[in-house]
Amino acid sequence: MIYVTVDSIGKESVTKHQPFLNDDQNDTLLFEKLREHILTHYPNPEHIGCPAPEILKKLIDTPRAVGLSDLNDLHIFKCAECTRALMELRKQREQVEQNAPEV
Ligand SMILES: [Zn+2]
Repeated sequence: MIYVTVDSIGKESVTKHQPFLNDDQNDTLLFEKLREHILTHYPNPEHIGCPAPEILKKLIDTPRAVGLSDLNDLHIFKCAECTRALMELRKQREQVEQNAPEV
């Protein structure tokens, strides 16, 4: 008998293909408000305490693989730069997933 082992990354990619739930709309709105708040109130031009760009990317790709200590605790909720970087990464990822060429 041949047994194929699926590692955690393989499982991750399977679960991500589930269709979106309508409830996500509310979450998105809430996060948009939160992002606006962070962008307005927490500028951090010197990137003080920012986690490495690889960590932010990992947070988008495999959120469960990133711990709070990797993220410098709740830093991203108090940093406009990280929030902006995450928005950008998420947008890039969505474009890849939807396979929709833009601009
Ligand atoms: Zn930051």
